[in-house]
Amino acid sequence: MSDVIEDRVDAAVDAWLRWLPSWKPGTHRGRVRMCRRCTGSPVLAAAGIAGDVPHQVAHALTSRMQRIVDRAVDEFTERQLPGLHAELTGDALWDAGGFNPSEGLPPEFDGLDLDPEPEDGQPFLFTLAGLAEQAKPEPVLPRPPLTPEEKRRLRTEIELADQCAHDAGQRVCFALAAHRPRVQAAIERFVEPQIQAMLEELSRHLEPPQ
Ligand SMILES: [Zn+2]
Repeated sequence: MSDVIEDRVDAAVDAWLRWLPSWKPGTHRGRVRMCRRCTGSPVLAAAGIAGDVPHQVAHALTSRMQRIVDRAVDEFTERQLPGLHAELTGDALWDAGGFNPSEGLPPEFDGLDLDPEPEDGQPFLFTLAGLAEQAKPEPVLPRPPLTPEEKRRLRTEIELADQCAHDAGQRVCFALAAHRPRVQAAIERFVEPQIQAMLEELSRHLEPPQ
Protein backbone atom coordinates (compact mmCIF):
# COMPACT_ATOMS: atom_id res chain seq x y z
CA MET A 1 0.00 0.00 0.00
CA SER A 2 2.73 2.47 0.94
CA ASP A 3 4.51 1.81 -2.36
CA VAL A 4 1.32 2.60 -4.24
CA ILE A 5 0.96 5.87 -2.35
CA GLU A 6 4.61 6.75 -2.93
CA ASP A 7 4.20 6.15 -6.66
CA ARG A 8 1.08 8.28 -6.76
CA VAL A 9 2.78 11.10 -4.86
CA ASP A 10 5.72 10.94 -7.33
CA ALA A 11 3.33 11.19 -10.27
CA ALA A 12 1.28 13.98 -8.65
CA VAL A 13 4.38 16.06 -7.91
CA ASP A 14 5.52 15.56 -11.51
CA ALA A 15 2.11 16.75 -12.74
CA TRP A 16 2.23 19.79 -10.44
CA LEU A 17 5.75 20.62 -11.66
CA ARG A 18 4.50 20.43 -15.27
CA TRP A 19 1.60 22.75 -14.43
CA LEU A 20 3.59 25.31 -12.40
CA PRO A 21 5.34 27.12 -15.31
CA SER A 22 1.90 28.02 -16.72
CA TRP A 23 0.83 29.67 -13.46
CA LYS A 24 0.19 33.42 -13.58
CA PRO A 25 -0.88 35.65 -10.70
CA GLY A 26 -4.65 36.02 -10.76
CA THR A 27 -5.37 32.72 -12.55
CA HIS A 28 -8.18 32.20 -10.08
CA ARG A 29 -10.53 35.14 -9.58
CA GLY A 30 -12.89 33.46 -7.19
CA ARG A 31 -13.60 34.56 -3.69
CA VAL A 32 -10.59 34.89 -1.46
CA ARG A 33 -11.47 33.41 1.86
CA MET A 34 -9.77 31.11 4.25
CA CYS A 35 -9.25 27.81 2.41
CA ARG A 36 -10.08 24.85 4.62
CA ARG A 37 -7.91 22.53 2.58
CA CYS A 38 -4.75 24.65 2.69
CA THR A 39 -4.88 26.46 6.03
CA GLY A 40 -2.54 24.65 8.40
CA SER A 41 -2.21 21.77 5.93
CA PRO A 42 0.45 19.21 6.91
CA VAL A 43 0.90 18.65 3.16
CA LEU A 44 2.28 22.16 2.73
CA ALA A 45 4.56 21.72 5.73
CA ALA A 46 5.82 18.43 4.27
CA ALA A 47 6.44 20.07 0.90
CA GLY A 48 8.25 22.97 2.57
CA ILE A 49 5.85 25.52 1.10
CA ALA A 50 5.71 28.66 3.19
CA GLY A 51 2.57 30.64 3.92
CA ASP A 52 3.53 33.50 1.59
CA VAL A 53 3.36 31.32 -1.54
CA PRO A 54 0.32 32.34 -3.64
CA HIS A 55 -2.71 30.33 -2.65
CA GLN A 56 -3.36 28.90 -6.12
CA VAL A 57 0.14 27.43 -6.24
CA ALA A 58 -0.24 25.80 -2.83
CA HIS A 59 -3.82 24.74 -3.50
CA ALA A 60 -2.88 22.94 -6.71
CA LEU A 61 -0.54 20.76 -4.68
CA THR A 62 -2.79 20.16 -1.67
CA SER A 63 -5.65 19.17 -4.00
CA ARG A 64 -3.49 16.66 -5.81
CA MET A 65 -2.44 15.14 -2.48
CA GLN A 66 -6.03 15.16 -1.23
CA ARG A 67 -7.05 13.16 -4.29
CA ILE A 68 -4.47 10.52 -3.41
CA VAL A 69 -5.84 10.24 0.13
CA ASP A 70 -9.44 10.12 -1.14
CA ARG A 71 -8.54 7.43 -3.62
CA ALA A 72 -6.82 5.33 -0.94
CA VAL A 73 -9.92 5.63 1.26
CA ASP A 74 -12.23 4.77 -1.64
CA GLU A 75 -10.22 1.69 -2.48
CA PHE A 76 -10.09 0.59 1.15
CA THR A 77 -13.83 1.17 1.53
CA GLU A 78 -14.62 -0.81 -1.58
CA ARG A 79 -12.44 -3.74 -0.45
CA GLN A 80 -12.99 -3.81 3.30
CA LEU A 81 -16.06 -1.84 4.32
CA PRO A 82 -19.13 -3.35 2.62
CA GLY A 83 -21.69 -1.46 4.71
CA LEU A 84 -20.17 1.96 4.10
CA HIS A 85 -19.52 1.14 0.46
CA ALA A 86 -23.19 0.21 -0.03
CA GLU A 87 -24.25 3.38 1.76
CA LEU A 88 -22.01 5.58 -0.40
CA THR A 89 -22.98 3.93 -3.70
CA GLY A 90 -26.62 4.18 -2.57
CA ASP A 91 -26.08 7.89 -1.93
CA ALA A 92 -24.55 8.25 -5.37
CA LEU A 93 -27.67 6.64 -6.88
CA TRP A 94 -29.94 8.90 -4.87
CA ASP A 95 -27.98 12.00 -5.79
CA ALA A 96 -27.51 10.97 -9.42
CA GLY A 97 -28.27 13.54 -12.06
CA GLY A 98 -28.20 17.27 -11.78
CA PHE A 99 -25.39 19.65 -12.53
CA ASN A 100 -22.47 19.80 -10.20
CA PRO A 101 -20.15 22.64 -11.22
CA SER A 102 -17.36 21.40 -8.97
CA GLU A 103 -17.23 17.96 -10.58
CA GLY A 104 -14.39 17.05 -12.92
CA LEU A 105 -12.39 20.21 -12.29
CA PRO A 106 -8.62 20.23 -12.64
CA PRO A 107 -6.96 20.08 -9.21
CA GLU A 108 -5.94 23.73 -9.36
CA PHE A 109 -9.61 24.71 -8.96
CA ASP A 110 -10.87 21.75 -6.95
CA GLY A 111 -12.50 22.85 -3.70
CA LEU A 112 -12.35 26.57 -4.45
CA ASP A 113 -15.23 28.99 -4.61
CA LEU A 114 -15.96 29.28 -8.32
CA ASP A 115 -18.16 32.33 -8.33
CA PRO A 116 -16.42 35.67 -7.94
CA GLU A 117 -17.43 38.12 -5.26
CA PRO A 118 -20.58 39.99 -6.39
CA GLU A 119 -20.00 43.69 -6.95
CA ASP A 120 -22.46 46.28 -5.71
CA GLY A 121 -25.06 47.23 -8.33
CA GLN A 122 -23.76 44.67 -10.83
CA PRO A 123 -25.55 41.42 -10.19
CA PHE A 124 -24.43 38.44 -12.23
CA LEU A 125 -26.88 37.05 -14.78
CA PHE A 126 -26.20 33.64 -13.38
CA THR A 127 -23.80 32.01 -10.96
CA LEU A 128 -22.48 28.47 -10.98
CA ALA A 129 -23.96 27.93 -7.53
CA GLY A 130 -27.36 29.10 -8.83
CA LEU A 131 -27.19 26.75 -11.81
CA ALA A 132 -26.35 23.83 -9.57
CA GLU A 133 -29.34 24.67 -7.37
CA GLN A 134 -31.71 24.75 -10.35
CA ALA A 135 -30.39 21.50 -11.80
CA LYS A 136 -30.75 19.56 -8.59
CA PRO A 137 -33.29 16.81 -9.22
CA GLU A 138 -36.16 16.18 -6.84
CA PRO A 139 -35.47 13.08 -4.77
CA VAL A 140 -37.38 10.19 -6.31
CA LEU A 141 -37.85 8.01 -3.26
CA PRO A 142 -37.41 8.57 0.44
CA ARG A 143 -34.44 6.59 1.70
CA PRO A 144 -35.33 3.57 3.82
CA PRO A 145 -34.16 4.01 7.44
CA LEU A 146 -31.25 1.93 8.76
CA THR A 147 -31.76 -0.73 11.44
CA PRO A 148 -29.86 -0.25 14.75
CA GLU A 149 -27.52 -3.09 13.75
CA GLU A 150 -26.80 -1.45 10.39
CA LYS A 151 -26.19 1.87 12.14
CA ARG A 152 -23.75 0.30 14.57
CA ARG A 153 -21.82 -1.42 11.78
CA LEU A 154 -21.79 1.75 9.75
CA ARG A 155 -20.33 3.73 12.65
CA THR A 156 -17.53 1.19 13.05
CA GLU A 157 -16.81 1.27 9.34
CA ILE A 158 -16.75 5.07 9.31
CA GLU A 159 -14.15 4.98 12.10
CA LEU A 160 -12.05 2.55 10.06
CA ALA A 161 -12.35 4.78 7.00
CA ASP A 162 -11.25 7.77 9.10
CA GLN A 163 -8.27 5.81 10.34
CA CYS A 164 -7.41 4.86 6.76
CA ALA A 165 -7.60 8.54 5.71
CA HIS A 166 -5.34 9.50 8.60
CA ASP A 167 -2.77 6.80 7.71
CA ALA A 168 -2.89 7.62 4.00
CA GLY A 169 -2.42 11.31 4.84
CA GLN A 170 0.67 10.53 6.87
CA ARG A 171 2.12 8.37 4.11
CA VAL A 172 1.44 11.09 1.56
CA CYS A 173 3.26 13.66 3.72
CA PHE A 174 6.17 11.31 4.28
CA ALA A 175 6.51 10.61 0.56
CA LEU A 176 6.07 14.28 -0.29
CA ALA A 177 8.86 15.39 2.04
CA ALA A 178 11.30 13.56 -0.26
CA HIS A 179 10.28 15.95 -3.08
CA ARG A 180 10.83 19.10 -1.04
CA PRO A 181 13.97 20.24 -2.93
CA ARG A 182 12.20 19.89 -6.31
CA VAL A 183 9.12 21.75 -5.04
CA GLN A 184 11.11 24.60 -3.53
CA ALA A 185 13.38 24.95 -6.58
CA ALA A 186 10.33 25.16 -8.87
CA ILE A 187 8.71 27.86 -6.73
CA GLU A 188 11.94 29.83 -6.73
CA ARG A 189 12.19 29.54 -10.50
CA PHE A 190 8.60 30.03 -11.68
CA VAL A 191 6.70 31.80 -8.92
CA GLU A 192 9.05 34.17 -7.15
CA PRO A 193 10.10 36.15 -10.27
CA GLN A 194 6.42 36.79 -11.06
CA ILE A 195 5.72 38.00 -7.53
CA GLN A 196 8.80 40.19 -7.72
CA ALA A 197 7.65 41.66 -11.05
CA MET A 198 4.21 42.33 -9.60
CA LEU A 199 5.66 44.13 -6.61
CA GLU A 200 7.92 46.24 -8.83
CA GLU A 201 4.97 47.13 -11.05
CA LEU A 202 2.99 48.11 -7.99
CA SER A 203 5.72 50.28 -6.54
CA ARG A 204 6.14 52.06 -9.91
CA HIS A 205 2.48 53.08 -9.79
CA LEU A 206 2.83 54.19 -6.21
CA GLU A 207 5.78 56.48 -6.91
CA PRO A 208 4.74 60.11 -6.54
CA PRO A 209 4.60 62.06 -9.87
CA GLN A 210 7.76 64.11 -10.48
ZN1 LIG B 1 -6.57 26.06 -0.81
